[in-house]
Amino acid sequence: MKVTVVGFWGAYPEVGEATSCYLLEKDDFSCLIDCGSGALAQVPKYTNVMELDAVILSHYHQDHIADVGVLQYNWLVQNQIQNTSDILPIYGHTDDLTGFEKLTHHFTEGIGYDPEKTVQVGPFTITFLKTKHPVACFAMRITDGEKVIVYTADSSYMQEFVSFSRHADLLISDCSFYQGQDGSKAGHMTSVECAEIAEAAGVGQLLLSHHPHFGDRGDLVSEAKKEYTGIVELARTGYTWNA
Ligand code: ZN
Repeated sequence: MKVTVVGFWGAYPEVGEATSCYLLEKDDFSCLIDCGSGALAQVPKYTNVMELDAVILSHYHQDHIADVGVLQYNWLVQNQIQNTSDILPIYGHTDDLTGFEKLTHHFTEGIGYDPEKTVQVGPFTITFLKTKHPVACFAMRITDGEKVIVYTADSSYMQEFVSFSRHADLLISDCSFYQGQDGSKAGHMTSVECAEIAEAAGVGQLLLSHHPHFGDRGDLVSEAKKEYTGIVELARTGYTWNA
């Protein structure tokens, strides 16, 4: 399974980059995990947007869904140009029906996932964990039957992440704050909290994502390395993990 970082910023994108969006691929199947601001200008670097098989959304904050609208226009325009009628499934939770209903458009279909149940999307088996965030948000544990990745989505620290992430090969974590800051009110984590989860869960690698727009982001890595003995990387546009 291959993961490509399409966008990694929290809140809004910096020049030429994007907020939360990850491309997940296995054999001929490809899907996006979240689809934040600027994502549609980045995805074509890695795959044909019309070749996507699915989109899976953690929650309905704009930095995770802003480009769903233009993705829908992309599918509308390209279906018209090519005289096709392909439908793109977009998986989202139904705790917020107003958000969920926006996922269905001319050539996209919103599919509600039950976070209590395992969902199969192509070759990927996904389980969910409700996070601590100002709106309903779900972390994902994704396996292709061989490797496991865990995506915390947006959340402040919670102990449940340790068992949820147990022995994952890759942990992609919300790292919006630096050591010593308090992310709990905003519903985000610090570098050290990400590392504590990675260490306690015994994950293979930690990828710090959902970055802040202040400070020296290199410090996030050095802070995390004090608590976690495995590989720590800072998400960047086009970063790939392949296993
Ligand atoms: Zn959020």
